[in-house]
Amino acid sequence: GRPLEGKTALVTGGSRGIGRGIALRLAADGALVAVHYGSSEAAARETVETIRSSGGQALAIRAELGVVGDAAALYAAFDAGMGEFGVPPEFDILVNNAGVSGSGRITEVTEEVFDRLVAVNVRAPLFLVQHGLKRLRDGGRIINISSAATRRAFPESIGYAMTKGAVDTLTLALARQLGERGITVNAVAPGFVETDMNARRRQTPEAAAALAAYSVFNRIGRPDDIADVVAFLASDDSRWITGQYVDATGGTIL
Ligand code: NDP
Repeated sequence: GRPLEGKTALVTGGSRGIGRGIALRLAADGALVAVHYGSSEAAARETVETIRSSGGQALAIRAELGVVGDAAALYAAFDAGMGEFGVPPEFDILVNNAGVSGSGRITEVTEEVFDRLVAVNVRAPLFLVQHGLKRLRDGGRIINISSAATRRAFPESIGYAMTKGAVDTLTLALARQLGERGITVNAVAPGFVETDMNARRRQTPEAAAALAAYSVFNRIGRPDDIADVVAFLASDDSRWITGQYVDATGGTIL
């Protein structure tokens, strides 16, 4: 059978980019996937349709992250969606993928921008785990999407890099706490991946080449480069790995 047959996964930010790639891969591995989105309803629907048209199971759930009460709102939508699906509101895999970038250098970052980065990239994952613990089955998986920017200096976006440092710290603490329930918690760190997030950074061929050159393979990452690593960490094969920062940067920090 497929590795995630009978499992349910919740992927935040599954409407676009890396999250979509993760949703498609986990569904292909047999999981029922709750595709969370914030505002890109058409994109979320497309993710769900792509999964269903290849015989997989998925549903879309909407909740804006980065606002007070976001975790409670997300799980209200999750519980309702699972109810419509006729299954209990429980899951085995949580992928904290939704995130926002930007901030600029130390000379550019503003308090408003920083607060927003923290709210979406740090506070939301923390409380999604807190509210999710009673729905997350024993033996489950939490996978947080970090960044190369916590291991290689990234002064271009200092506030963003700091939020991903907090994601790594969240991963470490949770891994110790949740071991007693057989839950593993790991962080997956992409380097540059071709998504809307950095579209402006690769508008010219020269700029795209510069981003590609971050990897020893001299190309920009694709969502499936990240999704394949997440799928391993979601599977039983990774059961003895927890609390780790898993580099999926194509050698960006070597
Ligand atoms: P995209 O901008 O392509 O997609 C972001 C996703 O997150 C969308 O599905 C979006 O949903 C969701 N999202 C963003 N903000 C909110 C919000 N406030 N509320 C609800 N949903 C939200 O990003 P990527 O796919 O590139 O990034 C995914 C993760 O990977 C992020 O955590 C990012 O930091 C990390 N990463 C990305 C890298 C890259 O080069 N692309 C490199 C390293 C890390 P919607 O549009 O529906 O609101």
